[in-house]
Amino acid sequence: MKLIDGKFIANQVKGEIKKEVVQLLDTGHRAPHLAAILVGSDPASQTYVASKEKSCHEVGFISSLYKYPETISEQELLSVIDFLNADTEIDGFIIQLPLPKHINTDHILLRMDPNKDVDGFHPINVGRMATGMEAFLPATPAGIMELLKRYEIETIGKNCVVLGRSNIVGTPMSILMSRKGYPGDATVTLCHSKTTHLKEICLQADILIAAIGKPHFVTEDMVKEGAVVIDVGIHRVPSNESKTGYKLIGDVDFDNVSKKCSYITPVPGGVGVMTIVSLLQNTLKAYKNNTPCDCIEDDHCDDESCDCGCHHHE
Ligand code: NAP
Repeated sequence: MKLIDGKFIANQVKGEIKKEVVQLLDTGHRAPHLAAILVGSDPASQTYVASKEKSCHEVGFISSLYKYPETISEQELLSVIDFLNADTEIDGFIIQLPLPKHINTDHILLRMDPNKDVDGFHPINVGRMATGMEAFLPATPAGIMELLKRYEIETIGKNCVVLGRSNIVGTPMSILMSRKGYPGDATVTLCHSKTTHLKEICLQADILIAAIGKPHFVTEDMVKEGAVVIDVGIHRVPSNESKTGYKLIGDVDFDNVSKKCSYITPVPGGVGVMTIVSLLQNTLKAYKNNTPCDCIEDDHCDDESCDCGCHHHE
């Protein structure tokens, strides 16, 4: 069994992004800028936003936080989105979910400029992803695709079973794995709480992706010998082994399942660390879309020999 080391890959990708940022600054450009909107004081949301800010600083991005009390109205929040959409120095922004109940999340997401939606939640980006067009991919599935690619895991023609159909993980994951190209071209089965014969379906999987939010749900009797297992779940459970009094575990019973796998992601240090990295990758992409290369004049490059490869030539 080989461990898919998310921490190692995350550091590798961050190093690559940092190098690009240094080059941008050295050539007189500004750094990419990611903004985040945080409403209320939910501790988990605060932790997520703080770690996103930390990662931005690690790679040299500018990061800014727009913090509002739980009582902010939907109209006020829509005005904040309009402001961020219009600010040309902000390349991308995220809205930390969940939002308070009096705010309609769909209204908020739909108001975002899809070109700044680096979380990939806007229906335009979801539609572009589903049809195989260039898009901001949702962060967690994009992180998993990056892991599969960097570990050169075969996906073409393989049976892939995805457990869970959430909009942020399971559904986009199933779409990406069934799209043409590598990683992808897999034969995908998407399972959910109404799926019958779940164990039998899982046993067919060459690649099993667990995103159902139930600790240690996937047991060794559900996994085929030699399968690749990707564990998206994150659960905090009490533990005497750590000073904090808790430890993190996944949707997969790692100790027993890992004995049967060819590859497996650990929790922590697997998929979770890749999610923020995908957000950074999307922000860099948004920056490039937002910042024409030096060769562009009046929205156009006249130099036929130019091979800068920027999207403004496409
Ligand atoms: P979610 O929105 O709660 O969705 C869970 C999915 O699992 C649903 O589609 C549900 O089916 C399905 N499900 C529940 N019980 C099932 C069962 N017994 N058999 C088959 N399917 C079942 O979860 P999520 O937001 O995708 O998150 C899943 C897990 O990943 C959580 O532990 C979460 O903390 C973690 N997560 C991690 C990251 C990361 O960065 N690593 C990011 C996001 C989430 P129905 O649709 O029928 O209800």
